[in-house]
Amino acid sequence: MKKWWFLVIIIMIISIAKSGQAITLPRSIDKTPNTFLNSNESLTNKRVNSANWESNQEKLENNRNFHLKYVADYLGNKLIEQAEVPKVDLLPEPNPKVFKLLQVQEQVKEKPIQKEKPKPNIIVKPSVYLTFDDGPNHELNQILTILKAKKAKGTFFMIEPQMRHYQDSVKRLVNEGNYPALHSVTHDKNKLYGGSPLNVVNEMEKTRKTLLEITGFDSKLTRAPYGSKPYMKDTFRNVLVQHQMKMWDWNIDTMDWKYQRSNPHQILVNAINGLERVKNKKGPIVILMHVTKGTATVLPQVIDYLYSKGYQCPAYDPSKHVIMNFWNDTRL
Ligand SMILES: [Zn+2]
Repeated sequence: MKKWWFLVIIIMIISIAKSGQAITLPRSIDKTPNTFLNSNESLTNKRVNSANWESNQEKLENNRNFHLKYVADYLGNKLIEQAEVPKVDLLPEPNPKVFKLLQVQEQVKEKPIQKEKPKPNIIVKPSVYLTFDDGPNHELNQILTILKAKKAKGTFFMIEPQMRHYQDSVKRLVNEGNYPALHSVTHDKNKLYGGSPLNVVNEMEKTRKTLLEITGFDSKLTRAPYGSKPYMKDTFRNVLVQHQMKMWDWNIDTMDWKYQRSNPHQILVNAINGLERVKNKKGPIVILMHVTKGTATVLPQVIDYLYSKGYQCPAYDPSKHVIMNFWNDTRL
């Protein structure tokens, strides 16, 4: 009888011990090895040494996951294992590259937002366009030399047969930054304006092609001989527009064709008086001159006068085209 009871007690102790292992939950994870308690040894409260800490930690993790899965299953949920937390290694000394990068980042952070630097006051000088008709001829080189010496540029409206005759001068003109433009083939009033409105555009196209052959420069700027009024009526202007050409007249006439032999000084006087008349008006200032000897003699004084009044003398620039025709035709 006593032996039977003894057996029953032993069986009970074993079953309690087994069930205890099954329901044991790990204590909160304490990373200090000396205070860590293995769940399997919780009953004996045995301390583990440092050497075994890592394997114990692993066991604990497994055990914890087992219990969490158990609880999750019981509650009808699934345990999803999360991805590992990124591992950070602390270097004994900062990696110089990383340190440098951090320094740069700090500098970028600390750099105050710079206000836009005040732009230097660049005063754009008003322009006066020096235009010369009826070249090229013998006098052209002298005029080109003056322009170069004075750092001024000219716009030259040229006649086609003369361009063929003075090809080197035309090349020089273009090479030195002056603008080559078109002034017809015949310069004949009757031939240009007496017949078909196509006559003007045909002569301008022929002049354009010759210039292109000589210099490789494609110019679309024209000036009608004797000016566009009254000859260049709308029928004539329409065909110029159809050919994508531009047409310039002038607003200061030096009358140099008249005075260049008898009184070249009058050319300068006319230029000065003309400037006084137009300087406060809207639009560009365009001076009409011709490629003549008398004009060449006063040209340095004309340029000096313009400079003294604060003007610059650039060549025509198709990218900055401005309207300058007696009809105020904005297409040209
Ligand atoms: Zn002319």
